[in-house]
Amino acid sequence: MSAQKRHAPSVFRFLVLHLAALTVFLVGYSHIALISMIVFYLIRYWGISVVYHRYFSHKSFSTSRTFQFILALIGTTSGQRGPLWWAAGHRKHHRYSDTEKDVHSPHNGSVFHSHLGWLLKEESLETDFELVKDFTKYPEIMWINKYHSLGIVLSFVFLFIFGSYLEVAFPSLGTTGWQMLVWGGVLSTLLCCHVVLGLNSINHIVGNKAYPTKDNSTNIWWMFPLMFGEHLHNNHHYFPSSHTAAFSNGEIDLMGGSIRMMEKLGLVTNVKKPTAEKYLGDRIDGNKDLLIKPIALN
Ligand SMILES: [Zn+2]
Ligand SMILES: [Zn+2]
Repeated sequence: MSAQKRHAPSVFRFLVLHLAALTVFLVGYSHIALISMIVFYLIRYWGISVVYHRYFSHKSFSTSRTFQFILALIGTTSGQRGPLWWAAGHRKHHRYSDTEKDVHSPHNGSVFHSHLGWLLKEESLETDFELVKDFTKYPEIMWINKYHSLGIVLSFVFLFIFGSYLEVAFPSLGTTGWQMLVWGGVLSTLLCCHVVLGLNSINHIVGNKAYPTKDNSTNIWWMFPLMFGEHLHNNHHYFPSSHTAAFSNGEIDLMGGSIRMMEKLGLVTNVKKPTAEKYLGDRIDGNKDLLIKPIALN
């Protein structure tokens, strides 16, 4: 397949998504539409942060084969391709952070390239299965990696049907199928894409370092309302396999908290934590107030 043939659909998809977002001015506003956007943003972002990032990329916990597939399905609702595509690309990012082999480093090109431009290139759409060999033995994961559109399409269909039902059954809510589709579907997907892409761009440019990583990763506290823990990107680069990126007082990682909740429910096991000696001893910003009691560490 030629470079142009692969390149064009990617540009087209992003253009359509951004243009579709503008239809928000046509479909209008309702409280329920805003709530659907927040709820679906949380689902999609959790699917990326906990599922694609901490599980498939870093294996910061273990789980059963069945729940692994359910997690993968949740991840596909984000519209950010398949779990193995995402994990392979992210493993590469950690291996070559901010070097010339890091395809989305803002230190190797423009900020636009690091944020979105890299994704519009032909080679960026391929899954490097060599980097995710630990998951290629599962045919159902290979299947969902190929048919990754399933999750996002189902979420869009659900929102349209649900909105159409509310329009007839509860007209006082002031919503419609199209309105729910745009707010809960398009806007939440677009916001989730840009926030996740922001980890590659702004989280390697602005913010501060808590740990002496060789790359330019940073922590940005004011991104917490949208990233819920991923904003501690520099902490994460120092301890990539930890289930949480919050190590000291004042740091909050709700995504890590949700993993511990799943552990309590018996859904996941082998939740990884860094050692206190390492994460306090190496700290360079002076914040050495333990957040997790040493007894909880392994
Ligand atoms: Zn990074
Ligand atoms: Zn990572």
